[in-house]
Amino acid sequence: MATHRTKMLIIGSGPAGYSAAIYGARAMMEPIVVQGLQPGGQLTITTDVENYPGFADVIQGPWLMEQMQKQAEHVGTRMMWDTIVDVDVSKGSPFTAKGDSGDEYIADVLVICTGAQAKWLGVPGEMELGGKGVSACATCDGFFYRGKKVAVIGGGNTAVEEALYLTNHSDDVTLIHRRDELRAEKILQERLLNHPKITVLWNKTVESFEAGENGALHHLNLRDTQGGPDSTFECDGAFVAIGHAPATELFKGKLPMDDGGYLLTEPGSPKTEIPGVFAAGDVTDHTYRQAVTAAGMGCMAALDAERFLATLEVAEREAAE
Ligand code: FAD
Ligand code: NAP
Repeated sequence: MATHRTKMLIIGSGPAGYSAAIYGARAMMEPIVVQGLQPGGQLTITTDVENYPGFADVIQGPWLMEQMQKQAEHVGTRMMWDTIVDVDVSKGSPFTAKGDSGDEYIADVLVICTGAQAKWLGVPGEMELGGKGVSACATCDGFFYRGKKVAVIGGGNTAVEEALYLTNHSDDVTLIHRRDELRAEKILQERLLNHPKITVLWNKTVESFEAGENGALHHLNLRDTQGGPDSTFECDGAFVAIGHAPATELFKGKLPMDDGGYLLTEPGSPKTEIPGVFAAGDVTDHTYRQAVTAAGMGCMAALDAERFLATLEVAEREAAE
């Protein structure tokens, strides 16, 4: 068990956290980034990234995040392999946080960049068959379904990308969506709808995941959202891709949130209602949720953190005089 004292503590290591760290380190705030269970964040579970500015060719999500981490370390950020399990912001700056490791962190400013986590459908069989046919990450688990029949549930960018990615492993991919219209970007929709290995089942929801005699996924029970007959869909693998929820459990009752659990900040700013506590990236953004917007907000949080520290230092100096 150790105590780490820093001017700037950043919780989370996605694009928001690493960008805050790059700016914070260059402003001599000696940031510590606590990386959490998913170092590099959500982009580490995807493959092609073709909308992050600065790269003419398609790049890989894990590679991009590795570069961001290296850049943050290069300018002086300290990375911690730890997960924050408790924070105390009630007394104002300095703030304290406790890690899963037992370590304690004390910081003048706190930047929350905990992002978002995959949502589940919450239907029977989903949790029981996790790792036995049901997954929320095609890039992590798609390989196990080589040559098999798979389904993807959802209609957003993630679902479409997961379905396209799975065609690398399977010739029989079905996207199951609850409406007759996709939410995904047009360019992705076009690729999906024109792909010879992908079929779309419209207006269906999954009511349960059912196991076969071997204990692994055998079929899905489907309901027709337009009042048509119920049906079953046999498959070896099912990938739930219905979006993400903000990772804000830690801050319940400590910082204001909206109904969806997103941290509330001043409009157009990463400032929370507690001076010195900032929130950036998907944890506070239910609208844009992109790597580049998360990175931009991380930058804004670091710039505001620097200003907050300057006022703190002035106040301390005046109190001492
Ligand atoms: P995240 O990337 O969610 O990172 C959150 C971080 O917080 C993680 O490091 C996690 O370990 C950490 N954390 C959480 N809780 C704790 C805790 N208690 N203690 C310590 N650390 C904690 N966007 C694009 O712009 N282009 C794309 O092509 C693209 N593709 C995507 C593909 C997929 C499959 C997914 C899921 C998303 C994609 N996105 C894409 C969206 C993009 O990944 C997110 O908008 C972006 O990663 C958000 O960054 P973030 O820093 O806010 O949070
Ligand atoms: P999303 O845009 O919120 O889409 C979620 C999808 O799942 C929607 O189609 C939704 O249906 C469906 N859904 C939600 N709950 C459901 C339920 N209980 N049962 C059945 N279906 C359900 O989430 P996302 O696709 O994960 O994208 C999240 C963010 O990351 C977005 O901002 C996206 O742009 C970004 N992202 C970007 C890229 C990229 O730029 N290439 C890639 C991935 C993600 P409805 O449509 O009916 O609501």
